[in-house]
Amino acid sequence: MTVKLPNIIDLTFKQLQESMESMGEPSFRATQIHQWLFSHHASSFDDMTILSRGLRKKLSETFSIGQLQLQGRQECFEDACLNPTEKILLQLPDNEKVESVLIASAERMTACVSSQVGCPLQCPFCATGSMGFRRNLSAGEITGQVYALNSIAAEKTSNNKITNIVFMGMGEPLLNTDNVIEAIETLSTKNYSFCLSQKRITISTVGVIPEIQRLARSGMKTKLAVSLHAANQDKRESLMPIAARQYPLNELGKSLAEYTEITGMPVTIVYMLLKGINDSLDDAKMLARFAKTFLCKINLIDYNSIINIKFKPVYSSTRDMFVQQLLTSGLHVTVRKSYGTTINAACGQLATNSTQ
Ligand code: SF4
Repeated sequence: MTVKLPNIIDLTFKQLQESMESMGEPSFRATQIHQWLFSHHASSFDDMTILSRGLRKKLSETFSIGQLQLQGRQECFEDACLNPTEKILLQLPDNEKVESVLIASAERMTACVSSQVGCPLQCPFCATGSMGFRRNLSAGEITGQVYALNSIAAEKTSNNKITNIVFMGMGEPLLNTDNVIEAIETLSTKNYSFCLSQKRITISTVGVIPEIQRLARSGMKTKLAVSLHAANQDKRESLMPIAARQYPLNELGKSLAEYTEITGMPVTIVYMLLKGINDSLDDAKMLARFAKTFLCKINLIDYNSIINIKFKPVYSSTRDMFVQQLLTSGLHVTVRKSYGTTINAACGQLATNSTQ
């Protein structure tokens, strides 16, 4: 009977350092192996010629290497941008697939990464939700997505590398918090080749209250975004039934107030405007009342997905009225541009079946 060896990709950087120590190797070996795995995309320990033959043998007797494989790329050019938004399809070692997006704007190169294959929360406006839930991604698979996008960024010009990471791809990151945190710790490790400040990483959630409380106390410096989409419990339940019933609005408001108090950092409230559903003056007033109870800014986004004809984007005049009402209430509001809509790479559009 053949024994299945653990995939070394799934080890966090810290676990890899510990593993090197237990093999009697200096901890800098972990950096070398990590670079071979993620930057050089090694698929065999024999490729790691910088290591001694003995260590390569020991590694191959202890671990397997199951890399993420690039299966497809699609790009589209946004207005006034030098580089295109690019969506990639990655195959995981067990043949499941995820999509990730590289968003280029004048000032940043943002990696939008997935945390789950599918999503258990099944919001009706979201293409990922319609896939159902397959599994959580490991910390290594999350890290691998960032590196895959980083190599694509580097292809564009030599100076291009990822400047920001957002967990806004497939899945609910706070239903896979352990692996998300481990991946962030690896990607923000000081003196390590990637080393992105945690302040440039945003975790976007529908409002998983216990995990928001955990993040608040974790000491992480990441930013938090919460997809609200309605500031009324009944309306929110109609838009995101599973999440809204499990994490009611009033409890969510309290947990966000606590989060901002503990961390001193504002929360971004993401509100997708849906024609005739959550776009009235009353909706704007309810949102203002909710948002004024804690430190936050509001991002308004347009509806992008094409999967449910019940939902439609609002007219610009409606959006202007909504913005005005929030500004009048003294809130900080931005209207966020959607990138990648023509290649189904924008919010709510990722589903693994559209990348060629
Ligand atoms: S919107 Fe987010 S939480 Fe809702 S189904 Fe899609 S991925 Fe899941």
